[in-house]
Amino acid sequence: MKNHSELIKTKLADKQMRENVSSAMHALQDRRKALINAKFQDWQGLRTKAQKAKNNALYTLKDRVLEFEKNATKNGMKVHFANTKEDACEIIYELMVEKKVSKVLKGKSMASEEIGLNHYLEHKGLSAIETDLGELILQLGNETPVHIVVPAIHKNRYEIGELFSEKLGVAKESEPEKLNAIARTHLRNEFEGLEMGISGVNFAISSEGAIWLIENEGNGRMCTTAPTIHVAICGIEKIVESFTDAATTDTLLTPSATGQFIPAYNNIITGPRKADELDGPKEVHVILFNNHRTNILSNEDYYEALRCIRCGACMNFCPVYDKIGGHSYDAVYPGPIGEVISPQLFGMNEHGDILSLCSLCGRCSEVCPVKIPLDSMIRKLRRDKIGEAGDNAPLGANELEHSAMESYGFAKFADIATSPKMWRVAIGNASKFNWLLQSVGTSLPVLKNWATYKDLPELKGNIYKELENLEGVSYE
Ligand code: SF4
Repeated sequence: MKNHSELIKTKLADKQMRENVSSAMHALQDRRKALINAKFQDWQGLRTKAQKAKNNALYTLKDRVLEFEKNATKNGMKVHFANTKEDACEIIYELMVEKKVSKVLKGKSMASEEIGLNHYLEHKGLSAIETDLGELILQLGNETPVHIVVPAIHKNRYEIGELFSEKLGVAKESEPEKLNAIARTHLRNEFEGLEMGISGVNFAISSEGAIWLIENEGNGRMCTTAPTIHVAICGIEKIVESFTDAATTDTLLTPSATGQFIPAYNNIITGPRKADELDGPKEVHVILFNNHRTNILSNEDYYEALRCIRCGACMNFCPVYDKIGGHSYDAVYPGPIGEVISPQLFGMNEHGDILSLCSLCGRCSEVCPVKIPLDSMIRKLRRDKIGEAGDNAPLGANELEHSAMESYGFAKFADIATSPKMWRVAIGNASKFNWLLQSVGTSLPVLKNWATYKDLPELKGNIYKELENLEGVSYE
C-alpha cells in the first residue's frame, strides 16, 4: 500500500497550489449553488429520477450491454469487449498497428487515464496527443490530472504561461485568450493530419446503440469527426437504457460539475459516416471495458458507486480535497469518489491508504447528483480495510496485513460502544482520557498523528452526569 504521509506534507507546504485549488473549488461551489437556485424548480426530484435511471441500467446491466452491442453493430459501429485495462489498451494498440497509425489524437477521457493508455502506447513506441487544454497542460508538464473534470485546476494562468513558453518556445503570456490561442495553433496541424481519434463516453444508450459525449472546448468533436477512425473507450457502467435516461442525467451533470446550465457541446454519435455524408469518421469502434466493475456491481455495499457520472462535485465540496489537492491521493480518481472506487478498481492493497483522507463530514453525499452515499461507503471500506469485510471483500482487501494494535483498538472500541454500561463509564471518564491526550498524545503510538494536528477542547468533570441532566437526552 502506498504511504501518502510524505506526499501530503509536500502538498501542504505548496502554498501556491493550495491557493489555486481552494479558490477554484470555492468558485465552482458558488456557481453550482447560484445556478440551482436560479434555474431549477425541483433539483431534488431530478436527482431521484437520475438515481432511478442509473439503477435501472445497473440492475439489468448484462441485458443492457448485449442490447447496446446489438444496436451499435446494427448502426455500423464495431463493439469490442475488454475485461482488464490491459485488454483495452491492447485492442487500441492492435487497431493502430492494423491501420498503420503511430500517433492518435485524444479528447479528455478519464477512462483512458484509468487504463493507462498513454503509458502503454509510449511503451510500444507509439504516442497519443492530448487535445483538451487541461490535458495538454499536463502532458507538457509531465503530470497526471488533479481533478476528474478540470484536470489542471491546480495551476494558475501565470504558471501555464511559463510552461507554454518553456515547452512550446512561445512568448510568455498570462491572458486566458492568448493562452488559448497558443494551444489552438499548436493543435491545429495535428487535427488536420491524424488518422485516429480517441474519446471517452458520457452515456452509451443501449436501446439506440448510440454514444453521447459532453465537452466544452470543441476538441472532443474534432477528435471524433476529423480523423478517419474514431475509437470510444467506455466503462460498462456508462450504459443507460434510453435517451430519456441519458437526458435526465445529462441535465444534472454540468450544473454539478462547473455550474454551467448546459455544456458547450453535446455530441450524439450514432455510427460512422454514411454514403451520402460529407464528413465524419469512416469507422467507429467502441471498447466496452470492465476492469473490476462487475466485482463492484456484485457487492451490495458498493454497487451504487457505479451510478457515478464523473461530475466531480464531490471533490469540489470536499473540505479535505481543497486543502491537499488531487495529487495527494496518488490515484487516477481522487477525492471522495476516488476513495470509494480507486481501491476497488486498482486494489485495496494498492490504494486503501486514501481511505484515511476523509473527515466523514458527508458533504460529498449531499451534493452528489445521483445520490451516491459516499461517506457511508468510505466508512464501510475502512471496515473492510481492517479485515472485517465478510465474504465479498473488495479487490485486494484479503491481501492486506493488519496491525495487531489497530485491530485490538477497534475491537475494544466496538466492545465499549456497544455496551451501555461500559459506554457510561467511558463517557464518565472522558476528561481523564482527554488529559492523557492533551499531555502525552503526541507520543502515543496510533494516536500521535491525530493528536499532533487536532485542537481538542478541554473536558472537565464527569460528562456523563452532565449529559444525564440535559433536557431531551434520555439514557436507559
Ligand atoms: S460520486 Fe457523485 S458527485 Fe462525485 S463525481 Fe460521481 S456523480 Fe459526481
